[in-house]
Amino acid sequence: MDKKEILERVKKDNVKFISFQFSDVTGKVKSVDAPVEQLEGALDGGIWFDGSSVQGFARIQESDMHLYVDPDTYAVLPWTPDHMKRARFFCDIYTPDDEPFPGDPRGLLKRMLADLKERDMIFNCGPEPEFFLFRRNGSITPVPHDVGGYFDFSSDDEAAQVRTELMYALNSMGLEIEVGHHEVALGQHEIDFRFADALRTADNVMTLKYTVKAIAAQHDLIASFMPKPIFGINGSGMHVHQSIFDTKGTNLFFDEKDEFHLSELAHNLIGGELKHARALAALVAPTVNSYKRLVPGYEAPVYVGWAQINRSALIRIPRYNKGQNKAMRAELRFPDPSCNPYIAFAGMIAAAFDGIDNKIAAPKPLNNINIYHLSEDERKAKDIKELPSSLLEALEALDNDTVLKNALGEEIYTAFRRAKLEEWDDFRIHVTDWEVEKFLESA
Ligand code: GLU
Ligand code: MG
Ligand code: MG
Repeated sequence: MDKKEILERVKKDNVKFISFQFSDVTGKVKSVDAPVEQLEGALDGGIWFDGSSVQGFARIQESDMHLYVDPDTYAVLPWTPDHMKRARFFCDIYTPDDEPFPGDPRGLLKRMLADLKERDMIFNCGPEPEFFLFRRNGSITPVPHDVGGYFDFSSDDEAAQVRTELMYALNSMGLEIEVGHHEVALGQHEIDFRFADALRTADNVMTLKYTVKAIAAQHDLIASFMPKPIFGINGSGMHVHQSIFDTKGTNLFFDEKDEFHLSELAHNLIGGELKHARALAALVAPTVNSYKRLVPGYEAPVYVGWAQINRSALIRIPRYNKGQNKAMRAELRFPDPSCNPYIAFAGMIAAAFDGIDNKIAAPKPLNNINIYHLSEDERKAKDIKELPSSLLEALEALDNDTVLKNALGEEIYTAFRRAKLEEWDDFRIHVTDWEVEKFLESA
């Protein structure tokens, strides 16, 4: 949309306020809000804001930042009341010297995709975000609010009603919703939307997360994207289906002659992502709690390997159906919805293209093997590595991975590392219920 179209659209939608949004390194949405009368000026000259207190932006000498509106990201926030209708734009962050701010995660992903376009390539992502809905009951113990199971349907299920409302809202915001369903765990749900290039998809993930939270809150429910809120049952992942198209729309992943219908490029992507998997973990599963999800027994990956169909593998290749060349894709299964999607996708692209540009061969696939059932010796014989078992281990792997560090750039890497080490230290000094139960009397 150009300026004139935007101003007309805003009037037609009866919008009164605009949120100019961006994200910090941890994936939190930040917003500068203004009455709609300010929009024209913002479209012309951007908006200034003080970035000094934003996680990862703290550089005293550069505290004034400039936001430029990305006009393609206009969406009305459907839960806002009519008399205070609000719309949002995602923005590009620039320095006072009018240079792209190197600490802007969305800007980083945008630049990476622009470079790929020069090579006639589009990196597509299709995520499967899972989340829990909890009822507020005055206690901090999460309480699932319905009694459903995987794909269950019951007509008076409050969760199904909320999910329908969510799908309706998200559709109105430009996400092409494909399916919504109850997930395996009590109170757990998934809403899938159609794949798009990595930037649009990352924007869509941000949109989905805050929309789910806002609409759940209207029902007095808490929506949680925490990777493992409850011990002993499935956690919430955000598998990401990836493919690379050329700009004419041909899927470069497909090769009819290959045993798995995968092109050399796709094999090399797998080779790259598996090579960098332990460091990539810090970006796609970036919270202390992420590593409580990546354990055996709950459909989440634990080992570094790929396979066709096999759900215990880190990368799964869905089966090819004749004529569906466009659907050939690689599903990366360790991301979770606590990630900053811009940084996670940037990391995935960097790992993938290390594989593609350096022709890293994919290892042998782990078809027909349940990796969870292999002994340590059997895994060693097959050279199957484990994912990091903690955030600290993942951050250490990232410290040693120059490809991923260079891709993030000094600014984002340093800010991300600082934030995550603080999180780790905070976790490390806390005494958990488990420790008290285990040691209080026995020690
Ligand atoms: N909830 C599982 C996970 O943590 C995934 C279940 C599924 O395959 O959809 O990754
Ligand atoms: Mg799922
Ligand atoms: Mg999946």
